Amino acid sequence: MRALRLTAWGEPPTQTEVEQPVPHGAEVLVRVEATGLCHSDLHVIDAAPGALPYRLPFTLGHEVAGRTLALGPDADGVAVGDRVVLYGPWGCGDCDRCAAGRDNYCDRRDTLAWHGAGLGRDGGMAECVLVPSARHLVPIGDLPADQAAPLSDAGLTSYHAVAGLRHALEEGTTTVVIGVGGLGHLAVQILRATTPSRVLAVDVREEALALADRSGADFGTLMRADTAGVLRKRSGGAGADAVLDFVGTTQTLELAAGILRPGGELAVVGSGGGRLTVSKPGVLPPGFRLSLPFWGTRPELAEVVALAQSGAIHVETEQFPLSAAPEAIGRLRRGRVRGRAVLVP
Ligand code: NAD
Ligand code: ZN
Ligand code: ZN
Repeated sequence: MRALRLTAWGEPPTQTEVEQPVPHGAEVLVRVEATGLCHSDLHVIDAAPGALPYRLPFTLGHEVAGRTLALGPDADGVAVGDRVVLYGPWGCGDCDRCAAGRDNYCDRRDTLAWHGAGLGRDGGMAECVLVPSARHLVPIGDLPADQAAPLSDAGLTSYHAVAGLRHALEEGTTTVVIGVGGLGHLAVQILRATTPSRVLAVDVREEALALADRSGADFGTLMRADTAGVLRKRSGGAGADAVLDFVGTTQTLELAAGILRPGGELAVVGSGGGRLTVSKPGVLPPGFRLSLPFWGTRPELAEVVALAQSGAIHVETEQFPLSAAPEAIGRLRRGRVRGRAVLVP
């Protein structure tokens, strides 16, 4: 079968033919219908040797939807032909976090040689993907594959980040979303669907602000020198109750810290490598709370799928054949993707 594999750090992935896997034990083989291309794939491709615990080579792709094709003799809870989305974070399977469907916070995360499908283990940028157990699958019914695949990371990560802030997002509050790409446009919709908070969006691209608008944001503005002032005014003067940063550079972290009101919450999702200095006293508002949410839980993935099935959220996608992955990757690098790029084998 065809697969897009990372064979050397810092080099573009290569399309190669590999053996189609055979499921053993509790494993499930899934025929891939669609796989999302995440900005994290670029961070992985560009990683310096030794920066990530993964062993090369492996097949990329951690946002995967498809249909089960074959089952190992011990696989249960799933039948051949089921349409599913992959729960991408694969933990050790033994710790209490994994037992509760919280593989994203597996206790052994640092000692495993992977973080999940397409992240150190063979993922879904291929015709088929081998899943260790049916506990990593969530049914999607007749949800189109290009909709379902991005839910497993862009949707789930955004949902998990919003869930961590929900207690602070009552009526009359303001949330700022920085970076309205694959994750950010779903975060705007999830905020809209699950909280009464006013949503303000920031991006460096006009096209992304148009997407924020279509996603239900109350207001969008370009990242400029006066953005903090513009956002503060739009919040009613007090500042933001919460900021979701899907970029994570020093510039966006400083904007976030600068517009939070006392008791405000900052969730940093983007892996932009920026820095923010914590000191007391200092510039951060009193009561400031910071979180670094990573991916999401299996029960949350089922909730995100239900939101999509109800029509409350919709992924904007641009589809590419798997053979055009280099073009899709190039466009994502240049900031030319609207919503999520999805590869179809
Ligand atoms: P994306 O490229 O689709 O979207 C990023 C958006 O940010 C784009 O619209 C871009 O124009 C905008 N942007 C870039 N620089 C900006 C700036 N200085 N100010 C304002 N906006 C700016 O990326 P994505 O796939 O949505 O991923 C977003 C980030 O989240 C990436 O860093 C990715 O690695 C990370 N991520 C983290 C997790 C997690 O679990 N924490 C999961 C998935 C992705
Ligand atoms: Zn991702
Ligand atoms: Zn575990």
